[in-house]
Amino acid sequence: MKIEVLKLSDEKGRFLLRETSSAFVNAIRRSAMADVQKMAVDYINVYDNTSSLYDEILASRIGLIPLTADLNSLKLPEECRCGGEGCPSCQVSLTLTAEGPKMVYSRDLFSTDPSIQPSFPDIPIVKLVDGQRVMIEAVARLGTGKKHAKWQPAVACGYKNMPKITIKDCDKCGRCIDECPKQLLSLNKELKVKDLME
Ligand SMILES: [Zn+2]
Repeated sequence: MKIEVLKLSDEKGRFLLRETSSAFVNAIRRSAMADVQKMAVDYINVYDNTSSLYDEILASRIGLIPLTADLNSLKLPEECRCGGEGCPSCQVSLTLTAEGPKMVYSRDLFSTDPSIQPSFPDIPIVKLVDGQRVMIEAVARLGTGKKHAKWQPAVACGYKNMPKITIKDCDKCGRCIDECPKQLLSLNKELKVKDLME
């Protein structure tokens, strides 16, 4: 199998695989979603919540906020020497204290570890009106998408088959341009195949 990385950034990756099968590519896709470790809030301790959202809804929203992490310095709770009880090697606390009127965003989560922060600062959590308060401790741990969707590192992970187009003995009649269902061909002096990566 040959791999060619077309685009790689903090948020997106795109690559081309050659000489492989759909089954193998699909296995990579599934593994990217289910087996790659990611940091996410596992549970919250609610000290005060007079907002319009139930504690459970707040926990669900905070759990789905993606967090940055240095994976080399963290361990999965089940592989940690604390036995999963929770220690500085396997979990990090983030605190959230806010009072209305205010829109509470992911940037309002204060982390005790500078390397673990919300990846996007503008994710809305809850809107507080005058007099409403939230005071929460959120405990983040490493996990995989196999266990819960909050630990899925990829949200839209897919693949598509690329066509192999060869042009032979072309007399430039242009009929193939009308016949192609994906409109991949164009004729301008020469018959050309459009950029398939667009
Ligand atoms: Zn531990």
